Amino acid sequence: MVSSPKYIFVTGGVTSSLGKGIISASLAKLLQARGYRVTIQKLDPYINIDPGTMNPYEHGECYVTDDGAETDLDLGHYERFLNQPTSQSNNITTGRIYYNVIMAERRGDYLGKTVQVVPHITDEIKRNIFLLGETGKYDIIITEIGGCVGDIESLPFLEAVRQIRMDKPHEDVIVIHLTLIPYLSKVGELKTKPTQHSVRDLQESGILPDILVCRTEHDLPMDIRQKIARFCNVNLNAVIESIDAETIYDVPLLMKKEKLDEIVLQKLHLSAEREPDLESWKAFLGKLKNPTTDVEIALVGKYVELKDSYKSIVEAFTHAGAANEAKVKIRWIQSERLAESEELLNNVHGILVAPGFGERGFEGKIKAVKYARERKIPFFGICLGMQCAVVEFARNVLHWENANSTEMDKNTPYPVIDIMENQRNLENKGGTMRLGAQPCKIRKATLAYQIYQKEMISERHRHRYEFNSQYLEDFEKAGMIASGRNPDSNLVEITELKNHPFFIGTQFHPELKSTVESPHPLFVHFVRAAIAHKNSRL
Ligand code: GLN
Repeated sequence: MVSSPKYIFVTGGVTSSLGKGIISASLAKLLQARGYRVTIQKLDPYINIDPGTMNPYEHGECYVTDDGAETDLDLGHYERFLNQPTSQSNNITTGRIYYNVIMAERRGDYLGKTVQVVPHITDEIKRNIFLLGETGKYDIIITEIGGCVGDIESLPFLEAVRQIRMDKPHEDVIVIHLTLIPYLSKVGELKTKPTQHSVRDLQESGILPDILVCRTEHDLPMDIRQKIARFCNVNLNAVIESIDAETIYDVPLLMKKEKLDEIVLQKLHLSAEREPDLESWKAFLGKLKNPTTDVEIALVGKYVELKDSYKSIVEAFTHAGAANEAKVKIRWIQSERLAESEELLNNVHGILVAPGFGERGFEGKIKAVKYARERKIPFFGICLGMQCAVVEFARNVLHWENANSTEMDKNTPYPVIDIMENQRNLENKGGTMRLGAQPCKIRKATLAYQIYQKEMISERHRHRYEFNSQYLEDFEKAGMIASGRNPDSNLVEITELKNHPFFIGTQFHPELKSTVESPHPLFVHFVRAAIAHKNSRL
């Protein structure tokens, strides 16, 4: 369609958390809806090779792609908006760049030269930026640069962008800068000075932005837009207002109203003739905003203080809620607190036990499972949540005292969840889990089959421990069955209870594959079961 791929860089200034990821995803959505083939990548300025080893409190959820990359949670937004998978090439950190360069240096690839930030680090950054473009699969590559302009860490990325602008024809590369226009309530004024300074910082790196997206709590009046255009050296129609939205899913339409996609296409010399087809997006928004019922679901986890730790789960509930025309209210429950009292679960319509690592909060999660199992409340356990369901069943149904996962108790007499053989002797923590998409075969006449309506599925993994198949027969006799297994390794991927209206655990992470246009069936059916549970009690 487009002869050579176009590159859009999205930088940010004034403060972090302005929503670069959502702006990038929204722009991509608009361009995709006009028929362009678009992808988005994120460059992160930290030194970790990837966020896989970071605590969720540090960085929020670690998003996993089909090819097993542990990535920034913004990639989740890219997939949810574009309804297409990302991969390792869509997330690159400073750590990975330096790692590649240092490995090349050790191999002798630089032939005795001094290895420097410019050109070696910037060349490696550019090589990574172009990887997606070179696949021939995309017309437009949007690259979001993490952090803020002015950060020491971002400098090599900005230098790479400056060079790319020099190297490529002007109409092939544009820079969008996202800034904040604060509102001083005491004087009742919107202030442009931080934006002016931020653009000046960007200019110091040799980059003139083509478009400014201004995050604001109030509409930007014409005189403010003119002032921003004049002082920041951009066209008036390239000053785009990004007003606080009710939901992130409104942003594509807000950006369309501001004509962000049109000005982008104009600057890239691409046709804007075809109007964006946003019918299914609007249908989703219509359902999201006009629920006919509501339902309350407990999300039991140990990182609940930072909601970003469960980003994909929350968004999967948004998609599944809309599919059911229901508002899903999440009751956040710190699993450690459940160990003392289960009252926190009173009157919920469904219970989800979240993924996680380590002992803290584990016993509280076990309590949540027991509560759901005994009271026949719809239950959904994801990864560690599924493992909790297995341990709870072993202890309270099979009466195996002190049954546990060996992650929590190495000496348990009943290691019903155990470390995988190939994980046993690993010393490195980074990138060594069972990661990425794997096939799973579903047994017919099970809840899982009823939900997926097919035998073979593929879902993403991120864990070290597994159901210990040695005990499977005992479990199945007592009513907990393995309804999904890996066709190659036979590992148990889905467990469910026979005599319960809705009780399912998955070793994989279905939340990672839910999108606006394809809400995940497990979430859709779980929400449906929660609504049914609520109605049965009225
Ligand atoms: N800690 C568990 C394991 O490593 C579960 C991981 C998870 O919930 N993602 O197997």
